[in-house]
Amino acid sequence: MKISSVSVIGAGTMGSGIAQVFAQGELDVALIDVEASYLDRGMTTIAKSLDRLVRKEVLSSGNKDKVLSRIHTSTDLNEAKGSGIVIEAVFENEGVKTELWKQVDGIVGEDSILATNTSSISVTRLGANVTRPERFIGMHFMNPVAVMELVEVIRGLETNDETTKATLELCEKLGKTPVEVNDYPGFVSNRVLLPMINEAVYCLMEGVASRESIDTVMKLGMAHPMGPLALADLIGVDVCLDIMEVLHRDLGDSKYRPCPLLKKMVAAGRLGRKSGRGFYEYG
Ligand code: NAD
Repeated sequence: MKISSVSVIGAGTMGSGIAQVFAQGELDVALIDVEASYLDRGMTTIAKSLDRLVRKEVLSSGNKDKVLSRIHTSTDLNEAKGSGIVIEAVFENEGVKTELWKQVDGIVGEDSILATNTSSISVTRLGANVTRPERFIGMHFMNPVAVMELVEVIRGLETNDETTKATLELCEKLGKTPVEVNDYPGFVSNRVLLPMINEAVYCLMEGVASRESIDTVMKLGMAHPMGPLALADLIGVDVCLDIMEVLHRDLGDSKYRPCPLLKKMVAAGRLGRKSGRGFYEYG
């Protein structure tokens, strides 16, 4: 099946990046959000990201304009009608996503692929909100979308082979490397990454080492580009806690219990880079 148009719902950090890579992949993009100002912010983010590519001589300025012209914005969900694929990148809140998918279900055609960019909510459960769960799939892009090569493609219990194949091919068309995984809490990426971050927070809480020492051990010893505490600040300490809570609740194993220090940091509003302070301080 040939997909030539995409609707991206949610123009935040991820939605704007997703819209950008699809436009760079020569697809027509409808970028949808609830308020025009959020769409303007998303388009500014995309333009800045494309400017960086022009400066690095990856993209010509003429091509930058072509990419931008392939994206149109709207606050009307009906714009999703007729899209070959709809990608949802709204808040990581199951109630919000459930409500949205019920609405989208009444708008899109029978053949459209329905994809969620959720980082931790069950793809099977979200897919149960649409009339064709066999067309529903997880497309977990990494942040920053324009730079990161991986897309974790998550099959819900009902996702069929045709949908999976078309989604994998689409990722390749965008120049990404898709990896197919099954729907279990945290998929592969967050199930492996978050317990490591959580354990680093335990090391800090128990006084095993200082924040700098913990991060240096993991950077120099394990060749990680960034230490786990610095990474937690980048992801958002609150987001890390949310994902640990999903793993703990849905897998029911005490090994996933969130570290008390992680909880305390969130309670104090030390959310990482976005709040100016997390495990480190940001100017
Ligand atoms: P964000 O808060 O930056 O953006 C969310 C956007 O969705 C906002 O602009 C908001 O106005 C919009 N929105 C909310 N409800 C809507 C609705 N009903 N209709 C249309 N638009 C709506 O969030 P984000 O960081 O871009 O995350 C989006 C999704 O991507 C989440 O599911 C998140 O878990 C996932 N994700 C995030 C990251 C990351 O590093 N930020 C990485 C991978 C996956």
